[in-house]
Amino acid sequence: MITTLQDTTTLTNGVKMPWLGLGVFLVEEGPELINAVKSAIKHGYRSIDTAAIYENEAGVGQAIQEGLAETGLPREELFVTSKVWNADLGYEATLAAFETSLNKLGLDYLDLYLIHWPVEGKYQDAWRALETLYKAGKIKAIGVSNFQIHHLKTLLETAEIKPMINQVERHPRLTQEELIAFCREQDIQVEAWSPLMQGQLFDNPVLHEIATKYGKSIAQIIIRWDLQQGIVTIPKSTKEHRIIENSSVFDFTLTAEDMAKIDQLNQNHRVGPDPDNFDF
Ligand code: NAD
Repeated sequence: MITTLQDTTTLTNGVKMPWLGLGVFLVEEGPELINAVKSAIKHGYRSIDTAAIYENEAGVGQAIQEGLAETGLPREELFVTSKVWNADLGYEATLAAFETSLNKLGLDYLDLYLIHWPVEGKYQDAWRALETLYKAGKIKAIGVSNFQIHHLKTLLETAEIKPMINQVERHPRLTQEELIAFCREQDIQVEAWSPLMQGQLFDNPVLHEIATKYGKSIAQIIIRWDLQQGIVTIPKSTKEHRIIENSSVFDFTLTAEDMAKIDQLNQNHRVGPDPDNFDF
């Protein structure tokens, strides 16, 4: 049972990762970003998800320093994720990209580093770089993002260390059941990106009815649905009241029937790119 915002899932290597974190995709460097990350830390979030391509690692790093100073928390209490971008996939290139991210963030290690997209022919070499960095103690856990089952199978053929995480698009319109089942078999923790479908579910009548029944918002219902299925989730908001709202999901439990109603909203519909057909 997940009962607080600081509760963690234990990854295959024993590292503990918070079930709920803050995403900062499309938040530009500046006061909005700094305030969002700091208010998340102040309100109990312990996990922040960024990426090199978001071009906001420096601001995230600054907010982390300030957030830690203001709350008195030690660095080890936070779980910081970044991702290597497609242009930097390759053994040497990925090692260099990691150093750049680490410097921008102003940290001396990352909690989680992910291969952002499964670029064919490139992710195996990048994975070797992640393994090197992991063994050197510079990353506590390594993983992938946007990997379909076949990408994972290919990676597992040459990987020395299994990915601990697969961060994928997942929300009530894209429930990813097969991929989740495969990851469970392989002990790979699934993490949901765009859990709120980038705002496209807030007028859904089924979710509205469930939300009304529990006296919760649709965002809270979806986040709770992820957590009850053992999925790590990282909703994005820059507004303090929504950052608080999205973390106020530990005082109710969805019934099995309501969980199933949400599952049934699946249409295999993506808001982001298709990992089997992208050109970047
Ligand atoms: P999301 O599904 O988290 O939705 C964010 C949108 O919902 C924002 O417009 C926000 O204003 C709105 N919102 C948030 N909370 C709300 C609330 N309580 N009430 C009303 N509106 C609310 O979308 P996202 O940002 O795309 O995904 C979350 C995170 O996932 C990102 O910030 C990023 O860290 C990560 N991500 C990863 C990948 C990847 O390829 N690995 C891709 C996209 C996003």
